[in-house]
Amino acid sequence: MNTLASDREALRPPLVDSFGRRITYLRLSVTDRCDLRCRYCMSEVMTFLPRSELLTIEELGVIADAFVARGVKRIRLTGGEPLVRRGINDLALHIGRQLGGGTLDELTLTTNATRLAEHADLLAEAGVRRVNVSLDSLDADRFRLITRTGELDKVLGGIAGAKAAGLTIKINMVALKGLNENEIEPMIRWCGDQGFDLTLIETMPLGVVDEDRTDRYLPLDGVRARLAERFTLETIADRTGGPARYVRVRETGTRLGLITPLTNNFCDGCNRVRLTASGRLYMCLGHDDRIDLKAVLRSGGRRAVDAALDRALLSKPERHMFRIGGRGAAPALGRHMSVTGG
Ligand code: SAM
Ligand code: SF4
Repeated sequence: MNTLASDREALRPPLVDSFGRRITYLRLSVTDRCDLRCRYCMSEVMTFLPRSELLTIEELGVIADAFVARGVKRIRLTGGEPLVRRGINDLALHIGRQLGGGTLDELTLTTNATRLAEHADLLAEAGVRRVNVSLDSLDADRFRLITRTGELDKVLGGIAGAKAAGLTIKINMVALKGLNENEIEPMIRWCGDQGFDLTLIETMPLGVVDEDRTDRYLPLDGVRARLAERFTLETIADRTGGPARYVRVRETGTRLGLITPLTNNFCDGCNRVRLTASGRLYMCLGHDDRIDLKAVLRSGGRRAVDAALDRALLSKPERHMFRIGGRGAAPALGRHMSVTGG
């Protein structure tokens, strides 16, 4: 670490919550809007935030800086679809300047890849090295059925563009009963061929969508057991402080992550907080407690944000409260994943 960076860390204490967990990871949602309407994520008709309520690109940069100064080492840009936000490249370049020198270790992005081909070079220039791409099906018709509007070719083009720009790719696939469960094995093979990691995700009860998620909920413990009959799954220790557990699929070489918020509680090592595009800081994806960092920033500037982070951390809960309710039950939280930032 260079002297400047270590001085800065010494001056500003790291962010630690009341359970002793150090916060080193920020998920920064830059918009709640999206060009797709994935069935488990959004309703067909959505009301998005008025643009006037969003943090500006400059404000997003100031808040990111405040987190980095308090020891945040990884920032993930997300949404909604981050690449539909105007100015996203400027924000990536701004945050990317903090990379190296012992301050920020990683700037990443979660995207549906429909616009990734146009952005990949610039993201790489900003210092992005890895992207997560959501891809729930490799069949064009099923992809459209799941996303309601998506064109698989565009997404595959985006993935190819990212590969050409030298970015490492991890595919996120939400496992959906009766929709893509028979595509899990082909996806593992495809990711192995392409050299991509794959993470399977259980649907989480966030926000009202047009369907009952209970019908689509596919517990990954069962998926894993079935995969173990077809493949050799070698447990690997990789933990990122996040919810995924990892195995290596020996036959394909794929590193496979399983995110099981409902069948397992993953909160003990939680190292993250989430900021929405309108400046709400959520300490937990599965709770409604938040503080309004936009108001804090606009009334008191960067110093006030710094003080607010300590107050916010005190309210980070010990664990989430997810549970898929019975048929027809309301979602655990009214907030969509696209608002909080997945
Ligand atoms: N639009 C980008 C994308 O799809 O990658 C970034 C935002 S999206 C909200 C981030 C991740 O959350 C995606 O991998 C998506 O599949 C996942 N997701 C969205 N709603 C979800 C839900 N209700 N349960 C589980 N995962 C969800
Ligand atoms: Fe958009 Fe991502 Fe939600 Fe799909 S999962 S609707 S791509 S925000």
